[in-house]
Amino acid sequence: MADHPCDSSLIDEAEDEPSASSAPRRIHPLEPDRAAMAEIGQAVLRRAIAFIETLPDRPTASGDDTPPELIRAMLAPPPEGPGELEAVLDQLDQAAACAYETGSPGFFAYVPGGGIFTSAVADLYTGVTNRYVGHAFAAPALVALEQGVVRWLTGICGLPQGSGGLLMTGGSMATLCAVIAARHAGLGEDLAGGTLYVGAETHHSVAKAARLAGLPAAGIRTVPCGPDLAMDPEALAGMIADDRSAGKRPFLVVGTAGTTNTGAIDPLPQLAAIAQREGLWFHIDGAYGGMFRLTRRGQARLRGMELADSVALDQHKTMFLPFGASALVVREPHRLAAAYQADAAYLAGMEGEFGLPDFADLGPELTRGMRGLRVWLPLQLHGVAAFREALDEKLDLAQFAYRQLLDEPALELPWQPPLSIVAFRMRPAGPGPDAARRANRATEALLDRINAGGRVRLSATTIGGRVTLRLCIVVHRAHADRVAEAVGIIRTSARSVHATATTRH
Ligand SMILES: *Cc1c(COP(=O)(O)O)cnc(C)c1O
Repeated sequence: MADHPCDSSLIDEAEDEPSASSAPRRIHPLEPDRAAMAEIGQAVLRRAIAFIETLPDRPTASGDDTPPELIRAMLAPPPEGPGELEAVLDQLDQAAACAYETGSPGFFAYVPGGGIFTSAVADLYTGVTNRYVGHAFAAPALVALEQGVVRWLTGICGLPQGSGGLLMTGGSMATLCAVIAARHAGLGEDLAGGTLYVGAETHHSVAKAARLAGLPAAGIRTVPCGPDLAMDPEALAGMIADDRSAGKRPFLVVGTAGTTNTGAIDPLPQLAAIAQREGLWFHIDGAYGGMFRLTRRGQARLRGMELADSVALDQHKTMFLPFGASALVVREPHRLAAAYQADAAYLAGMEGEFGLPDFADLGPELTRGMRGLRVWLPLQLHGVAAFREALDEKLDLAQFAYRQLLDEPALELPWQPPLSIVAFRMRPAGPGPDAARRANRATEALLDRINAGGRVRLSATTIGGRVTLRLCIVVHRAHADRVAEAVGIIRTSARSVHATATTRH
């Protein structure tokens, strides 16, 4: 076991494995023969399994001490002749080891979901078969596979039959596609005065999407939040009315089903009612929270998602898939076609082979990978219940951590976790801005202390001027043992930070 993943002992360990051939393997022909394919595949698979087996014991982050010569090596131009298989993979392993260990059971810093093996295997299959799925006629059954995944996701959101959408690479892309479709539906060609509404806790990808969609910053209105960090619907209604009187053209409301900071959930049914009354597109950002609708509790807490015009939801977060898995689902797929189809015959895209959609007409991309398989294969192999149970477990673990941390007098937990993020900070010694400032410094010290051991990794955010730490329970490998360990580390660290702060005063 490597003391530190950036050193080479992990790699030496891999070299101890018997090699299929004694001579170094060099792969010159672009079409390797059968033996070469097997050797390459086995070499990668051996390393993949070793990676997953050693994951729990490796430090949760180690990018800071990346050797400069490794950076230089990775920046170097490619060789003219063929490289040696094991040497190339060794170098790759070393580069991959100097990083945030995002798949570790102790990685609680952000909301990505770890990356499950069966989805990684699907990527290999996708690459090898290399099917084109932009138009239904080119691979009807595989377009059906992907459309089946889309339909399953529309069902999770509670959207009616006939809804659809497409798989994207991430929540930011899904949001961009939604904002463009909403802009096309609401403003047409003339963007003047176009106005959209987000909450104070809305993810910054929405503002980025608006900018990419050609809207000026002045067209983005930030609606204040209540103490629960959810958007205030009365304030929204008031701002829309004011903007209309000022001659603006409201066209879109973005609600969030689980914010990135704390998992706060906007009052979706009320936002939907306002959007409908005002004739605005209602988009829901469910990038982090949307998949929790698979669970009974998630369905109850995310009520109102079924009223959306569109929903973004990330499978690379709360479905635990490797990065690059997200979906945009829409109530009326023809509105996507209206925005994206290159010729304006809107419905033609919906009448593809076997009544299947032509994905190239529903979004900006023509050629792209067969994204459906990386979702479909895990669902077929594990079954939906495995994902539902895992998400339920994360909700339970968040409640457990919340209750445990509530018992720690040095800590303050302003919000009961709405989903699987537990937010906490050092309690100020008294009232007033100076106490808050000192508490902020103490919370920063707390984060350093928690992360120093390398067993768990948390991150900080700022909410209402207060530095706040987040325990995000999203990685599928995070179970009760590691969450209990995290709680123990947090409590011990909080006590020692508190003791240090008290002696200093
Ligand atoms: C992560 C996240 C996004 C952005 O999604 P990417 O997949 O990172 O592009 C948007 N909204 C919320 C609420 C998120 O958590």
